[in-house]
Amino acid sequence: MTDVAIAAQHLIKPHGGQLVDRTGYAPDGVDSLEKVTLTSRELSDLDMLASGALSPLEGFMGSEDYASVVETMHLANGMPWSLPVCLAVDEAPSGDVVALANEAGDVLATLEVQEVFDYDKHVEAEECFRTTDDAHPGVARLYEQKPKYLAGSVTVFQRPEPAFPELAFDPADTRFAFAKRGWKRVVGFQTRNPIHRAHEYLTKVALETVDGLLIHPLVGDTKSDDVPAATRVECYRVLVDGYYPHNRVLVSAFPAAMRYAGPREAVWHAICRKNYGCSHFIVGRDHAGVGDYYGTYDAQLIFEHFEPHELDIEPIFFEHSFWCRSCGAMASAKTCPHDPADHVFLSGTKVREMLANGELPPVEFSRPEVAQVLIEAYRTE
Ligand SMILES: [Zn+2]
Repeated sequence: MTDVAIAAQHLIKPHGGQLVDRTGYAPDGVDSLEKVTLTSRELSDLDMLASGALSPLEGFMGSEDYASVVETMHLANGMPWSLPVCLAVDEAPSGDVVALANEAGDVLATLEVQEVFDYDKHVEAEECFRTTDDAHPGVARLYEQKPKYLAGSVTVFQRPEPAFPELAFDPADTRFAFAKRGWKRVVGFQTRNPIHRAHEYLTKVALETVDGLLIHPLVGDTKSDDVPAATRVECYRVLVDGYYPHNRVLVSAFPAAMRYAGPREAVWHAICRKNYGCSHFIVGRDHAGVGDYYGTYDAQLIFEHFEPHELDIEPIFFEHSFWCRSCGAMASAKTCPHDPADHVFLSGTKVREMLANGELPPVEFSRPEVAQVLIEAYRTE
Protein backbone atom coordinates (compact mmCIF):
# COMPACT_ATOMS: atom_id res chain seq x y z
CA MET A 1 0.00 0.00 0.00
CA THR A 2 1.30 3.48 -0.83
CA ASP A 3 1.81 6.12 1.84
CA VAL A 4 -1.08 8.11 0.41
CA ALA A 5 -3.40 5.08 0.55
CA ILE A 6 -2.42 4.51 4.18
CA ALA A 7 -2.97 8.17 5.00
CA ALA A 8 -6.38 8.02 3.29
CA GLN A 9 -7.47 5.34 5.76
CA HIS A 10 -7.17 7.86 8.56
CA LEU A 11 -9.70 10.21 7.00
CA ILE A 12 -13.34 10.15 8.07
CA LYS A 13 -15.39 7.50 6.23
CA PRO A 14 -17.91 8.72 3.65
CA HIS A 15 -21.58 8.82 4.72
CA GLY A 16 -22.72 5.20 4.52
CA GLY A 17 -19.14 3.90 4.52
CA GLN A 18 -18.25 4.10 0.84
CA LEU A 19 -18.02 6.79 -1.79
CA VAL A 20 -20.66 6.21 -4.41
CA ASP A 21 -19.51 6.52 -8.02
CA ARG A 22 -22.36 6.91 -10.49
CA THR A 23 -20.27 7.78 -13.52
CA GLY A 24 -20.33 5.35 -16.43
CA TYR A 25 -20.75 4.92 -20.16
CA ALA A 26 -23.71 5.84 -22.32
CA PRO A 27 -25.68 2.74 -23.29
CA ASP A 28 -26.35 1.90 -26.93
CA GLY A 29 -29.43 3.62 -28.25
CA VAL A 30 -29.37 6.34 -25.61
CA ASP A 31 -30.56 8.89 -28.17
CA SER A 32 -33.81 7.04 -28.74
CA LEU A 33 -34.74 7.10 -25.02
CA GLU A 34 -37.45 9.37 -23.70
CA LYS A 35 -35.81 12.57 -22.49
CA VAL A 36 -36.37 14.30 -19.15
CA THR A 37 -35.05 17.87 -18.93
CA LEU A 38 -33.52 18.88 -15.61
CA THR A 39 -33.58 22.30 -13.94
CA SER A 40 -30.26 23.85 -12.92
CA ARG A 41 -30.81 22.72 -9.31
CA GLU A 42 -31.51 19.17 -10.45
CA LEU A 43 -28.40 19.27 -12.66
CA SER A 44 -26.30 20.25 -9.63
CA ASP A 45 -27.78 17.33 -7.71
CA LEU A 46 -27.13 14.98 -10.66
CA ASP A 47 -23.48 15.97 -10.79
CA MET A 48 -23.14 15.50 -7.03
CA LEU A 49 -24.74 12.05 -7.35
CA ALA A 50 -22.19 11.22 -10.05
CA SER A 51 -19.19 12.22 -7.92
CA GLY A 52 -20.34 10.64 -4.67
CA ALA A 53 -20.82 14.01 -2.97
CA LEU A 54 -24.30 12.75 -2.03
CA SER A 55 -23.18 9.27 -0.90
CA PRO A 56 -24.92 6.99 -0.04
CA LEU A 57 -27.54 8.17 -2.58
CA GLU A 58 -27.24 6.48 -5.97
CA GLY A 59 -30.02 8.39 -7.63
CA PHE A 60 -33.07 10.57 -7.12
CA MET A 61 -35.07 9.55 -4.06
CA GLY A 62 -38.01 7.19 -3.99
CA SER A 63 -41.21 7.78 -1.99
CA GLU A 64 -40.08 5.88 1.10
CA ASP A 65 -36.83 7.79 1.49
CA TYR A 66 -38.56 11.04 0.57
CA ALA A 67 -41.28 10.69 3.21
CA SER A 68 -38.76 9.62 5.82
CA VAL A 69 -36.40 12.51 5.05
CA VAL A 70 -39.18 15.10 5.10
CA GLU A 71 -40.64 13.79 8.37
CA THR A 72 -37.60 12.60 10.30
CA MET A 73 -34.43 13.87 8.60
CA HIS A 74 -33.37 10.26 8.08
CA LEU A 75 -33.41 7.96 5.08
CA ALA A 76 -35.75 4.96 5.26
CA ASN A 77 -32.75 2.85 6.38
CA GLY A 78 -32.23 5.15 9.38
CA MET A 79 -29.21 7.09 8.15
CA PRO A 80 -29.28 10.86 8.77
CA TRP A 81 -30.29 12.87 5.67
CA SER A 82 -31.93 16.27 5.96
CA LEU A 83 -33.14 17.39 2.52
CA PRO A 84 -34.97 15.72 -0.38
CA VAL A 85 -32.92 15.06 -3.51
CA CYS A 86 -35.67 14.63 -6.05
CA LEU A 87 -36.39 15.00 -9.74
CA ALA A 88 -39.70 16.64 -10.63
CA VAL A 89 -41.63 15.58 -13.75
CA ASP A 90 -45.07 16.15 -15.29
CA GLU A 91 -45.95 12.51 -15.74
CA ALA A 92 -44.61 8.98 -15.52
CA PRO A 93 -42.33 8.05 -18.43
CA SER A 94 -43.37 5.07 -20.54
CA GLY A 95 -40.03 3.21 -20.57
CA ASP A 96 -37.94 1.61 -17.81
CA VAL A 97 -34.98 3.84 -18.57
CA VAL A 98 -35.01 7.54 -19.43
CA ALA A 99 -32.32 9.94 -20.62
CA LEU A 100 -31.57 12.98 -18.42
CA ALA A 101 -30.81 16.14 -20.37
CA ASN A 102 -29.94 19.78 -19.76
CA GLU A 103 -31.90 22.74 -21.17
CA ALA A 104 -29.79 22.64 -24.34
CA GLY A 105 -30.95 19.08 -24.96
CA ASP A 106 -27.57 17.41 -24.29
CA VAL A 107 -28.09 13.96 -22.79
CA LEU A 108 -25.91 13.65 -19.68
CA ALA A 109 -27.16 10.54 -17.93
CA THR A 110 -29.67 7.75 -17.78
CA LEU A 111 -32.08 6.97 -14.96
CA GLU A 112 -33.50 3.53 -14.26
CA VAL A 113 -37.10 4.23 -13.41
CA GLN A 114 -37.93 2.92 -9.96
CA GLU A 115 -41.18 4.79 -9.34
CA VAL A 116 -43.11 7.99 -9.93
CA PHE A 117 -44.97 9.46 -7.00
CA ASP A 118 -47.08 12.46 -5.97
CA TYR A 119 -45.83 14.82 -3.33
CA ASP A 120 -47.31 17.64 -1.31
CA LYS A 121 -45.43 20.89 -1.93
CA HIS A 122 -46.87 22.58 1.15
CA VAL A 123 -45.82 19.78 3.44
CA GLU A 124 -42.33 19.74 1.94
CA ALA A 125 -42.11 23.54 2.31
CA GLU A 126 -43.33 23.56 5.90
CA GLU A 127 -41.07 20.70 7.01
CA CYS A 128 -37.91 21.51 5.05
CA PHE A 129 -38.05 25.31 4.85
CA ARG A 130 -40.14 25.93 7.99
CA THR A 131 -42.37 28.23 5.97
CA THR A 132 -44.93 28.06 3.17
CA ASP A 133 -44.26 31.68 2.18
CA ASP A 134 -43.52 31.87 -1.55
CA ALA A 135 -41.36 34.97 -0.96
CA HIS A 136 -38.75 32.49 0.32
CA PRO A 137 -36.53 31.66 -2.70
CA GLY A 138 -36.33 27.94 -1.90
CA VAL A 139 -40.08 27.68 -1.38
CA ALA A 140 -40.74 29.68 -4.57
CA ARG A 141 -38.63 27.23 -6.54
CA LEU A 142 -40.40 24.27 -4.94
CA TYR A 143 -43.82 25.71 -5.86
CA GLU A 144 -42.71 26.18 -9.49
CA GLN A 145 -41.64 22.53 -9.76
CA LYS A 146 -43.46 19.91 -11.79
CA PRO A 147 -46.07 17.94 -9.83
CA LYS A 148 -44.56 14.42 -9.50
CA TYR A 149 -41.22 12.99 -8.49
CA LEU A 150 -39.38 10.49 -10.65
CA ALA A 151 -37.10 8.17 -8.69
CA GLY A 152 -34.30 5.85 -9.70
CA SER A 153 -30.58 5.30 -9.80
CA VAL A 154 -28.56 7.32 -12.30
CA THR A 155 -25.56 6.67 -14.52
CA VAL A 156 -23.82 9.87 -15.56
CA PHE A 157 -21.68 9.85 -18.68
CA GLN A 158 -21.30 13.55 -19.35
CA ARG A 159 -20.33 15.86 -16.52
CA PRO A 160 -20.80 19.62 -16.97
CA GLU A 161 -17.72 21.68 -17.76
CA PRO A 162 -16.68 23.04 -14.37
CA ALA A 163 -16.96 26.81 -14.15
CA PHE A 164 -13.61 26.84 -12.30
CA PRO A 165 -11.51 23.92 -13.58
CA GLU A 166 -8.66 24.64 -11.17
CA LEU A 167 -11.12 24.26 -8.28
CA ALA A 168 -12.95 21.18 -9.57
CA PHE A 169 -12.21 18.50 -6.98
CA ASP A 170 -14.58 15.56 -6.57
CA PRO A 171 -14.79 13.90 -3.14
CA ALA A 172 -12.24 11.29 -4.24
CA ASP A 173 -9.90 14.14 -5.30
CA THR A 174 -10.15 16.12 -2.06
CA ARG A 175 -9.62 12.91 -0.09
CA PHE A 176 -6.53 12.18 -2.16
CA ALA A 177 -5.26 15.75 -1.69
CA PHE A 178 -5.80 15.55 2.09
CA ALA A 179 -4.06 12.17 2.31
CA LYS A 180 -1.13 13.38 0.22
CA ARG A 181 -0.58 16.20 2.68
CA GLY A 182 -0.89 13.83 5.63
CA TRP A 183 -4.04 15.52 6.93
CA LYS A 184 -6.32 13.36 9.09
CA ARG A 185 -8.60 15.90 10.71
CA VAL A 186 -9.89 18.43 8.24
CA VAL A 187 -12.37 21.25 8.81
CA GLY A 188 -14.72 22.28 6.01
CA PHE A 189 -15.90 25.84 5.54
CA GLN A 190 -18.99 26.49 3.43
CA THR A 191 -19.35 29.98 2.03
CA ARG A 192 -21.27 31.88 -0.60
CA ASN A 193 -19.72 35.25 0.21
CA PRO A 194 -16.32 36.88 -0.08
CA ILE A 195 -14.30 36.13 3.05
CA HIS A 196 -13.62 39.14 5.23
CA ARG A 197 -11.68 39.25 8.49
CA ALA A 198 -14.56 37.78 10.53
CA HIS A 199 -14.71 34.54 8.55
CA GLU A 200 -10.95 34.42 8.10
CA TYR A 201 -10.81 34.40 11.89
CA LEU A 202 -13.33 31.53 12.24
CA THR A 203 -11.51 29.38 9.72
CA LYS A 204 -8.17 29.98 11.42
CA VAL A 205 -9.49 29.33 14.92
CA ALA A 206 -10.87 26.04 13.61
CA LEU A 207 -7.64 25.26 11.77
CA GLU A 208 -5.65 25.68 14.99
CA THR A 209 -7.27 22.45 16.27
CA VAL A 210 -7.05 20.25 13.14
CA ASP A 211 -4.59 19.41 10.34
CA GLY A 212 -6.12 21.17 7.37
CA LEU A 213 -8.81 23.53 6.15
CA LEU A 214 -11.05 23.02 3.12
CA ILE A 215 -12.43 26.37 1.94
CA HIS A 216 -15.39 25.07 0.01
CA PRO A 217 -17.31 27.88 -1.68
CA LEU A 218 -20.65 26.97 -3.14
CA VAL A 219 -20.59 27.74 -6.87
CA GLY A 220 -23.99 26.37 -7.96
CA ASP A 221 -27.04 28.61 -8.27
CA THR A 222 -27.42 31.40 -5.73
CA LYS A 223 -29.76 34.37 -5.45
CA SER A 224 -29.12 37.08 -8.03
CA ASP A 225 -28.09 39.57 -5.33
CA ASP A 226 -25.31 37.33 -3.98
CA VAL A 227 -21.76 38.20 -5.15
CA PRO A 228 -21.11 36.29 -8.43
CA ALA A 229 -18.99 33.16 -8.07
CA ALA A 230 -16.20 34.41 -10.38
CA THR A 231 -15.65 37.49 -8.21
CA ARG A 232 -15.75 35.42 -5.03
CA VAL A 233 -13.24 32.92 -6.41
CA GLU A 234 -10.83 35.78 -7.16
CA CYS A 235 -11.33 37.04 -3.58
CA TYR A 236 -10.50 33.59 -2.16
CA ARG A 237 -7.38 33.41 -4.34
CA VAL A 238 -5.89 36.71 -3.16
CA LEU A 239 -6.85 36.00 0.44
CA VAL A 240 -5.30 32.52 0.52
CA ASP A 241 -2.20 33.70 -1.36
CA GLY A 242 -1.58 36.45 1.13
CA TYR A 243 -2.79 35.15 4.45
CA TYR A 244 -2.98 31.34 4.71
CA PRO A 245 -0.16 28.75 4.79
CA HIS A 246 -0.44 26.86 1.50
CA ASN A 247 0.27 23.47 3.03
CA ARG A 248 -2.69 23.82 5.43
CA VAL A 249 -5.49 24.97 3.14
CA LEU A 250 -7.23 23.74 0.02
CA VAL A 251 -9.73 25.86 -1.92
CA SER A 252 -12.15 23.85 -3.99
CA ALA A 253 -15.59 24.44 -5.45
CA PHE A 254 -18.75 22.93 -3.95
CA PRO A 255 -21.04 22.40 -6.95
CA ALA A 256 -24.32 22.48 -5.01
CA ALA A 257 -27.14 24.91 -5.68
CA MET A 258 -28.35 26.92 -2.68
CA ARG A 259 -31.72 25.87 -1.32
CA TYR A 260 -31.79 28.50 1.45
CA ALA A 261 -33.27 25.88 3.78
CA GLY A 262 -31.28 27.23 6.75
CA PRO A 263 -31.02 24.61 9.54
CA ARG A 264 -31.75 21.56 7.40
CA GLU A 265 -29.31 22.76 4.78
CA ALA A 266 -26.61 23.18 7.44
CA VAL A 267 -26.95 19.47 8.23
CA TRP A 268 -27.02 18.60 4.53
CA HIS A 269 -23.92 20.72 3.93
CA ALA A 270 -22.15 18.90 6.76
CA ILE A 271 -23.05 15.44 5.40
CA CYS A 272 -21.80 16.39 1.92
CA ARG A 273 -18.51 17.68 3.39
CA LYS A 274 -18.06 14.41 5.24
CA ASN A 275 -18.08 12.77 1.79
CA TYR A 276 -15.35 15.18 0.71
CA GLY A 277 -13.27 13.95 3.66
CA CYS A 278 -13.93 16.63 6.30
CA SER A 279 -14.06 15.49 9.92
CA HIS A 280 -15.26 18.90 11.15
CA PHE A 281 -17.61 21.50 9.72
CA ILE A 282 -18.01 25.17 10.59
CA VAL A 283 -21.58 26.28 11.28
CA GLY A 284 -21.99 29.98 11.82
CA ARG A 285 -25.06 31.94 12.82
CA ASP A 286 -27.97 31.68 10.37
CA HIS A 287 -26.12 29.18 8.15
CA ALA A 288 -27.78 28.88 4.71
CA GLY A 289 -30.52 31.21 5.86
CA VAL A 290 -32.29 33.93 3.95
CA GLY A 291 -34.30 36.95 5.14
CA ASP A 292 -35.50 36.36 8.71
CA TYR A 293 -37.07 32.94 8.24
CA TYR A 294 -34.74 31.27 10.73
CA GLY A 295 -33.65 32.06 14.25
CA THR A 296 -30.03 33.08 14.73
CA TYR A 297 -29.03 29.75 16.27
CA ASP A 298 -31.48 27.39 14.53
CA ALA A 299 -28.79 26.03 12.20
CA GLN A 300 -26.69 25.12 15.25
CA LEU A 301 -29.52 23.80 17.44
CA ILE A 302 -30.76 21.42 14.74
CA PHE A 303 -27.67 19.25 15.28
CA GLU A 304 -29.14 18.30 18.68
CA HIS A 305 -31.79 16.29 16.80
CA PHE A 306 -29.10 13.74 16.01
CA GLU A 307 -27.58 11.26 18.42
CA PRO A 308 -23.94 11.92 19.34
CA HIS A 309 -21.73 10.52 16.55
CA GLU A 310 -24.74 9.74 14.38
CA LEU A 311 -23.52 12.21 11.77
CA ASP A 312 -19.89 11.41 12.54
CA ILE A 313 -18.71 14.76 11.15
CA GLU A 314 -18.33 17.20 14.04
CA PRO A 315 -20.09 20.57 13.66
CA ILE A 316 -18.17 23.49 15.16
CA PHE A 317 -20.37 26.40 16.15
CA PHE A 318 -19.29 30.00 15.90
CA GLU A 319 -20.56 33.39 16.96
CA HIS A 320 -20.21 36.50 14.82
CA SER A 321 -16.71 37.84 15.19
CA PHE A 322 -15.20 41.29 14.82
CA TRP A 323 -12.08 43.32 15.46
CA CYS A 324 -12.12 44.77 18.98
CA ARG A 325 -10.02 47.90 19.46
CA SER A 326 -9.64 47.27 23.20
CA CYS A 327 -8.68 43.61 22.79
CA GLY A 328 -6.48 44.63 19.86
CA ALA A 329 -7.58 41.40 18.21
CA MET A 330 -10.34 39.55 16.45
CA ALA A 331 -12.89 38.38 18.99
CA SER A 332 -16.52 37.48 19.51
CA ALA A 333 -19.15 37.98 22.20
CA LYS A 334 -17.77 34.77 23.73
CA THR A 335 -14.26 36.13 24.13
CA CYS A 336 -14.49 39.93 24.34
CA PRO A 337 -15.83 41.76 27.42
CA HIS A 338 -15.77 45.26 25.89
CA ASP A 339 -18.44 47.65 24.81
CA PRO A 340 -19.79 47.17 21.28
CA ALA A 341 -18.57 50.71 20.55
CA ASP A 342 -15.04 49.24 20.63
CA HIS A 343 -15.90 46.81 17.85
CA VAL A 344 -15.26 47.47 14.17
CA PHE A 345 -18.61 46.55 12.71
CA LEU A 346 -19.97 47.42 9.28
CA SER A 347 -23.36 46.37 7.96
CA GLY A 348 -23.50 44.57 4.63
CA THR A 349 -25.20 47.61 3.12
CA LYS A 350 -22.48 49.94 4.39
CA VAL A 351 -19.73 47.70 2.98
CA ARG A 352 -21.42 47.50 -0.44
CA GLU A 353 -21.79 51.29 -0.43
CA MET A 354 -18.10 51.82 0.33
CA LEU A 355 -16.94 49.32 -2.28
CA ALA A 356 -19.26 50.77 -4.92
CA ASN A 357 -17.70 54.20 -4.22
CA GLY A 358 -14.22 52.72 -4.62
CA GLU A 359 -13.47 53.12 -0.89
CA LEU A 360 -11.48 50.51 1.02
CA PRO A 361 -13.21 49.36 4.22
CA PRO A 362 -11.01 49.49 7.36
CA VAL A 363 -8.24 46.85 7.39
CA GLU A 364 -9.75 45.51 10.60
CA PHE A 365 -12.81 44.58 8.57
CA SER A 366 -11.46 43.44 5.23
CA ARG A 367 -8.06 42.59 3.76
CA PRO A 368 -7.24 45.36 1.26
CA GLU A 369 -6.48 42.80 -1.49
CA VAL A 370 -9.96 41.31 -1.11
CA ALA A 371 -11.63 44.72 -1.01
CA GLN A 372 -9.73 45.72 -4.16
CA VAL A 373 -11.14 42.73 -6.07
CA LEU A 374 -14.65 43.71 -5.01
CA ILE A 375 -14.10 47.35 -5.94
CA GLU A 376 -12.98 46.26 -9.42
CA ALA A 377 -16.04 44.02 -9.73
CA TYR A 378 -18.38 46.88 -8.83
CA ARG A 379 -16.61 49.16 -11.30
CA THR A 380 -17.16 46.79 -14.25
CA GLU A 381 -20.75 45.94 -13.33
ZN1 LIG B 1 -12.61 43.39 23.33
